[in-house]
Amino acid sequence: MNTPRTALAQFTVKGVVDYCTVCECCGRTNLKRTVALMPLDCEGNEEGQVSYYGTQCAADALRWTMTKVTNTAQLANRQHQERDDWARRIISVFGPVEYATHWEQAHLWISRNPNSTSSPSKSIADLLAQARTQLTDTALGPARPHTVAEFRPHWVLWDGAKVRHTVAVLPDQDAARQKLRTVQRELRARRVLTRAFTVQALDAQSAKESAHAAAALARYKAQNDAEGWLTGDVRDWR
Ligand SMILES: [Zn+2]
Repeated sequence: MNTPRTALAQFTVKGVVDYCTVCECCGRTNLKRTVALMPLDCEGNEEGQVSYYGTQCAADALRWTMTKVTNTAQLANRQHQERDDWARRIISVFGPVEYATHWEQAHLWISRNPNSTSSPSKSIADLLAQARTQLTDTALGPARPHTVAEFRPHWVLWDGAKVRHTVAVLPDQDAARQKLRTVQRELRARRVLTRAFTVQALDAQSAKESAHAAAALARYKAQNDAEGWLTGDVRDWR
């Protein structure tokens, strides 16, 4: 299957997967894992579909050593995971205000990015689009949850300034409550008083971020109310 086009093609290594065990280059089966290779066009842009090659065939296609292929693929997996985490945080924080008024979007945006001069609505739309592209990328497996409908409740322990702990309420609410009480008791022993509340988010890390965003928003509103200038026209920011 080594067509001349493949032989000449340039690839970028998207990562390594273990659910695909057949090399699409030579047809070898029962591989422990395969390397996801994305073809690049002559300008270096990703073009077309990912192919899954055994490490040896990937090394041949890239003209690399197998060690370099393995190391590059493992790094790519970690970076993919980090981008997934980022994307979940973005969707958890900004997904709920996607269809909010410009005024509400601007409040949230400015509370988190006080020095931003870009349009809040456009910035939020751009971030959400990037985040969805990331979580629906299937090079390394099926699409991950990425919609507000897929949010799950999380309990957040808040000490008045920062999040101390987050726990997924489901699937075992009793276990979650027990965990929360244990952490709360430990913190109390260290004289840290916390309050628990519920946040809807894609994962625990995102719930923490959402809680901080809510706190930033509350602070921003309180500050502006105190200064009494909260009367501007948000259309200026569009
Ligand atoms: Zn092969």
